[in-house]
Amino acid sequence: MNCVICLTELVPSNDSLEHIIPASVGGKLKKRGVLCKSCNNTAGEDWDSDLARQLNFFSVTFDVDRERGPAPPEKVRTSTGEELLLHPGKPMTQVRPVFKSTQLPGRIAYEIQARSMDEAKAIVKKLARKHPDLDVEAVLASAQISNELLAICLDKAISHTAEWYYNDLGSNYEELKDFKTAVANYDTAYYLFKEPLMLYNCGRIAETQLKNKAMARKYYTLYLRTAHPLSAEEKKAYNYVRLHYGSKK
Ligand SMILES: [Zn+2]
Repeated sequence: MNCVICLTELVPSNDSLEHIIPASVGGKLKKRGVLCKSCNNTAGEDWDSDLARQLNFFSVTFDVDRERGPAPPEKVRTSTGEELLLHPGKPMTQVRPVFKSTQLPGRIAYEIQARSMDEAKAIVKKLARKHPDLDVEAVLASAQISNELLAICLDKAISHTAEWYYNDLGSNYEELKDFKTAVANYDTAYYLFKEPLMLYNCGRIAETQLKNKAMARKYYTLYLRTAHPLSAEEKKAYNYVRLHYGSKK
């Protein structure tokens, strides 16, 4: 057998174990008699590592089990220009902690955004070396746990195709006559994307299938408040709801 790249004859002393699928993306199957040691090393440095870089995003997001341990964090940029680190199997974090100092008349204001309480503690302790009167424990006790980052991330993560996903799930469950689950899915679609027709769907199922007038009224009332019927069919539905559930009091 010869090395498939340099065609050198493979003998026990120069044969290598080649990953069929790169180890960087979780490949575990190895084969002898493919590459010589030298070509395997070059390949590893050359196209293997390039492929690993290109596929790292997937290794991170799917938390791929790799022989060499978890994939390195992947830096991503949100549409608002914020840089975040995605970690395999763990919550995302800021790329680095934020430390700002502002000179005010007679005092200095510090703003610290750390990625964990331990990190915050380390930063405040360092600061206390410069300002011995600083009460480290009091500062840490007044720290606010923020979910701002999470809110940004969630906002970025909810794809607009999700609306169709929940909408389709809703109609599937309706077909299956699982009306409660259908309502739950239309409700989620409305919660995410505020499309009033989803409220109409919920009201319609509550009225005609679940025979739950109170529930129907709840959805229809919100529907009438938010609807903007365009097509003839939508207008027909809207007029029906207004006639039967619009408050005339
Ligand atoms: Zn070779």
